[in-house]
Amino acid sequence: MLFLKGPERRKGPMALRKSSSSAADYPSSSTNPELPILAFPDPRLRKKGKDVKKVTDSETNLARRMAYTMYSNEGIGLAATQVNFQKNIIVMDTSEERDDLYVMINPEIVARSGTARTSEACLSVPGLRALVNRSEDIIVKYTDLSGVEIEENFNDMQSYCVQHEIDHLNGKILIDHIAN
Ligand SMILES: [Zn+2]
Repeated sequence: MLFLKGPERRKGPMALRKSSSSAADYPSSSTNPELPILAFPDPRLRKKGKDVKKVTDSETNLARRMAYTMYSNEGIGLAATQVNFQKNIIVMDTSEERDDLYVMINPEIVARSGTARTSEACLSVPGLRALVNRSEDIIVKYTDLSGVEIEENFNDMQSYCVQHEIDHLNGKILIDHIAN
């Protein structure tokens, strides 16, 4: 997702994330190349992600490459299905400083409240900006790279971004919201 504006984080009581990383932690290298992002109408964007059963080096490496790809394209979120990996993994950093990276494995929205109308753009649909109906606040259950399960509240930009990226994991893209 492309969407640059300051976030206001409100952490839930179970927020266990210990530290955040930044764009500088994800330099490009021969072993960490940028991934090509699938662009609409590529049918592979319709493939759904599968849950990750165990976090291994393969998921860690993929998450690193996804983070690098997101940062180098000035995105605030990226789903594995956008880079043709059918795994339920998303990365997100809505901070202006680019120093608040989230990696969420098997993210699932377990509670929602409120409604919001957002203006969103997508790395897979270059040039499009669309109004989308979202939930305002969400609670997300996810696993982090160390295999710890976390439940965390998100609101504002982070909430919308997680909803946008989970859409991708379900094969849904921004264009579908316009069709509705
Ligand atoms: Zn997108």
